[in-house]
Amino acid sequence: MTHPSATLAGGLKQPDAVIEAFQNARLQDMLALCARGHPYYRERWSQAGVDPHAIRTVGDLSQLPLTPKQAMMEAPERFRLQLPDLPLHERVLWEVIYTTGTSADPTPVYNTTHDYHAYLFQSARVAEISGIRASDVIANLFPLTAAPMGAFVRSATNAYAAGASIFAALPGAVHGGFGVHRPLDYAVQAIAANRATILWGVPSFIRRVLLRAIESGADFSRVRMCAITGEASSPALREDLRRCLRELGAQSTIVFDRYGSTELGAFAQCHEEGPWHNPAPEIQFHEVVDPDTGQRLPDGERGALAVTHLNRRGTVLIRFLVGDIVSIERGACPHCGRFGDRVVGPVVRTRDLVKVKGMLINPAALLEVLQSIAELDEFQVVVGRSDPQDPLSMDELQVRIATRAENREALATTVAERTHHVSRVRPRVVFAAAQEIYDPGAQTKAKRFVDTR
Ligand SMILES: [Zn+2]
Repeated sequence: MTHPSATLAGGLKQPDAVIEAFQNARLQDMLALCARGHPYYRERWSQAGVDPHAIRTVGDLSQLPLTPKQAMMEAPERFRLQLPDLPLHERVLWEVIYTTGTSADPTPVYNTTHDYHAYLFQSARVAEISGIRASDVIANLFPLTAAPMGAFVRSATNAYAAGASIFAALPGAVHGGFGVHRPLDYAVQAIAANRATILWGVPSFIRRVLLRAIESGADFSRVRMCAITGEASSPALREDLRRCLRELGAQSTIVFDRYGSTELGAFAQCHEEGPWHNPAPEIQFHEVVDPDTGQRLPDGERGALAVTHLNRRGTVLIRFLVGDIVSIERGACPHCGRFGDRVVGPVVRTRDLVKVKGMLINPAALLEVLQSIAELDEFQVVVGRSDPQDPLSMDELQVRIATRAENREALATTVAERTHHVSRVRPRVVFAAAQEIYDPGAQTKAKRFVDTR
């Protein structure tokens, strides 16, 4: 089955009603394919007693059950369309990328040729919205990981879609015997030598690259943008990246935070610190739901983000709970005028709230406070037991810090006070070497929050 109209003429210039009508048509096709050949949904919908053919609009989706992330992690094969009668490009496997969860093995997401084309289409929109141009030279600073990570694999696709050039720095924790991983200094040197304009990676690694460039006097004058994704970042961290770019005499200090995931692909900001545009409403629909009842919540209300694929052939997800609490806005974007849905932060990962000494703390808020302390080269929050041998001993909140500042005692006091202020828990502050907390040669990204209990 091919669709001559897989893309909407006029794209995000079309008002929401036109976009939604297009989505409704795609949704009917997608659900019909799932009803024929999606092992998980065929079983799940029949158990729930729902008829997918009765779903005619995105508004009807509430009749279908939500898909918990756990279901996909447990049986990823059952989320692949099994339809041997589809044309070749809709059924052959182009690439497999993996979601990196918090535990256990990463989960594969299957992409056919059709899905790869869709991602090229989505990436072109991302480039257009966030101002990535054919003249750009992108430095792919994502780590070379044990399982192919979407951000790494898709960085080339993003460059192709924008017509831009790209090279890779290949950092990451060493594995395998071919010796292909490269050290931090290679990234610094390659960015200067290739006159890179966009640094594309996880914020903690980009920050180390920038600090090393400042230290070594590398020429980063052509850099004009950091496109960050892959780990939570705070306004303070993004501001620190801009400070480093200013110090390096970079062409510009734009920091775009790319919200996305392997299942979602990337969303794009049309301006810094703004909400995230869904760049391709033709291929995915988003709603904010009450995860307990499955009901869709009104725009503007915060709840769990659920994605529904509208035109995929490999792994297909319907009302899939991404695991983030956000809200959605629609209508013309007050900044750029584009229509379609936009995800509004702050993005709160639902699994993230942690109890320490009986207090429910929000690690993101704590990390944000620590990120704003300029004298800290590195830091890490460790929740453990006051006596590691005794599982019943009191919780302990430890903040490990690395600094080159002179006045260490004053800094330790500041860290303790600010931690207490935001978490209501008094921490133990411990000094460590920067490399002990985060070694960019051995770790793909900094672990800012560790719970050892
Ligand atoms: Zn906008």
